[in-house]
Amino acid sequence: MTTLVMFSGGLDSTAMLVKLLTGSAGELRVHHIRMANKEGRERAESRAVESILAYARARYRAFRYSESGLDFSQLEAIPIDYVSIAYVACQVAIDTPGCNRIAIGALATDTDIANRSARQKRVFDEMYACYRARKLGEPRVEWVYPVFHTPKADLAAALPRELVDLTWSCRRPVNGFRPCMVCKACRAREGLRVPAGPAENRAS
Ligand SMILES: [Zn+2]
Repeated sequence: MTTLVMFSGGLDSTAMLVKLLTGSAGELRVHHIRMANKEGRERAESRAVESILAYARARYRAFRYSESGLDFSQLEAIPIDYVSIAYVACQVAIDTPGCNRIAIGALATDTDIANRSARQKRVFDEMYACYRARKLGEPRVEWVYPVFHTPKADLAAALPRELVDLTWSCRRPVNGFRPCMVCKACRAREGLRVPAGPAENRAS
């Protein structure tokens, strides 16, 4: 069994990665999508991903890693992330021998998560069927949500503080690297910081 771990570099997917690295001995393929759009978060995200992966390899165990890129930066609209994730997850699952699980760092408290997850899975299933028609891929791929029922504050509390500080959440960073503090992701992170830690200023 090999699990494809879709990894954004945010707090939730970092907590998921650590859970899978420490709670199981199964093969992991960790994949990050460099997702460029008008929000301009991809450079901050890539920097977070790089440092989190280095930390995780040194502290936990080895894993396969790859990334791909989708560049929508010349579009006026912001494409829906979960559709892009479904699309890439299918391509990478086919590229991963024995891949029969896909892990997503979604939380029960994420906006409209039940509907979004169902739609994401439908996009994946239709695409995956195209490959199965060519006899590629495993017959069954299970989607798992390892941290779904854990409140965000508990996820943060369970991780080493220095690792939490490496994660990136902001959707619309100012000048590419400074958290805006007003987007939904920034607001979800509010209150997770211990009083002494100016973690959100680390990129300035
Ligand atoms: Zn923000």
